[in-house]
Amino acid sequence: MSQSRLASCIPIPIEHKILVSVIEKAKDWALMHGVGMRDKKNFTKDAIQIAPFVLLPSPFPRSEFEKAVELQPVLNELMHKVAHDDEFLEQTLKNALQVDEFTRGLYNIWMKVREEGIMQPTSLGMLRSDLMLESRCPDATNRCSSHKPYCCWKQVEINSIASGFGHLGPVSRQIQSYILRQLGHGDLIKNMPENLALSGLCAGITEAYDLFGVPGSVVLFVVEEVSYNICDQRFHEFHIAETRPDIMIYRKTLGEIYEETELNEKKQLILEGSPVAVVYYRSGYEPAQYPTPKEWDARLRVERSTAIKCPSIQYQLAGTKKVQQALAAPGALERLAGGAAPRIRDIFTGLYSLDFDDSGESAVEMALADADKFVLKPQREGGGNNLYGAAVREALLRMRRSRERAAYILMERILPPIVSGYVVRAGAPVPPPVTDLVSELGIFGVIIGTKDKIYSNKQVGHMLRTKLADADEGGVAAGLGALDSPYLLDM
Ligand code: ADP
Ligand code: MG
Repeated sequence: MSQSRLASCIPIPIEHKILVSVIEKAKDWALMHGVGMRDKKNFTKDAIQIAPFVLLPSPFPRSEFEKAVELQPVLNELMHKVAHDDEFLEQTLKNALQVDEFTRGLYNIWMKVREEGIMQPTSLGMLRSDLMLESRCPDATNRCSSHKPYCCWKQVEINSIASGFGHLGPVSRQIQSYILRQLGHGDLIKNMPENLALSGLCAGITEAYDLFGVPGSVVLFVVEEVSYNICDQRFHEFHIAETRPDIMIYRKTLGEIYEETELNEKKQLILEGSPVAVVYYRSGYEPAQYPTPKEWDARLRVERSTAIKCPSIQYQLAGTKKVQQALAAPGALERLAGGAAPRIRDIFTGLYSLDFDDSGESAVEMALADADKFVLKPQREGGGNNLYGAAVREALLRMRRSRERAAYILMERILPPIVSGYVVRAGAPVPPPVTDLVSELGIFGVIIGTKDKIYSNKQVGHMLRTKLADADEGGVAAGLGALDSPYLLDM
């Protein structure tokens, strides 16, 4: 497949000597401003190393960026509706939960708290809608006039749990602005949109805290055993510590929550003697490893409590891949999003269920006939779980007659335009070679509300991740992608 190209924001290659010198400065800037991660190979809490970053901001059409920003509150509201539509969630997840243990675990918690009566009607949604430009025109018969070098953008997924990059998004803009200035192109910075993701996401947490309204209550961040993506997480805490010194924040793993918290008679979650106002999950669950029974118990205890959760269990279910696919099915958006349905449908690419029915069968046939056009996704988060190309075919042939296939969705593969650029990585030779790159834009949204009332609904910032054009996935924490930020083009 030949992909179209977007030109980089300044001419490259950059002369060797200038390039080496600017990378050296940029690496120091990175270390001193939290463009960092912990080293996975030689883990120590005493050091961070630079996170991979793209030297120059990647071009992105301004009109498409603006469209994504404007659409975010609409997507927030859709997710909020889905999370509160019990029947839709039940119908959508019923087959997947038969065969997917993790989805079943979440679902069981949801059923339990609904039976017992939900103690906290307010949810805090901190969402990130991820999208890619599509370089082909999906309308093969009436190609649109603008299908080169891109036609439109399509949603990759929407995250309702552990949507990272509140700090790494904005700081990517700052480091690339610094680099542009060092290269004598400071005049171009005006094309890099402001990014207030960190303060916007933190304001979601403090707004929920204030709604909880119990003096002396605390905020709990749920973290994994070992946090590699430490800069991204800690900056939220630092920001809140600075703007709201009255709020105490704790970081705990689910294992620690099991050991150290209890529910009092008012169903408040008590940690170190204080009620917890907001629980913010910073980790999904490790995709390769199911939570232990104690971790599930901790999750249930949190859900039973009066704390405002981000996400609440129904929000996490609403963020599953299966729900994304069900929203693309005929009629679903019309019912859930009313007048906004056409605007949302426009950003969906082909999404197909693999349930055992006629449409599931034809999806299998379609993917077997042209596997390169599709991505096969299980009900997991956090990167590295999807199947591409030959692996799609292999998996479908293996699962064709097995119930297992209902745990997957099939998605049309998006083919973004390519940009040439430099990726700077810890431990890699300087200067790096010019490589072909593709980007994925994430738009952050915050929504706070109950089933019947929305208190707050905003777009709060963005992030851009960029990977080698021939790589399937681009998780930065997973070591594949690199931090980046958009350079808006009028085209
Ligand atoms: P996860 O929950 O693991 O983040 P995603 O759906 O975001 O799952 O997929 C992971 C990555 O795979 C994305 O960041 C993107 O790079 C790639 N990807 C996913 N879906 C598509 C698609 N339809 N077309 C092209 N690339 C995709
Ligand atoms: Mg993703």
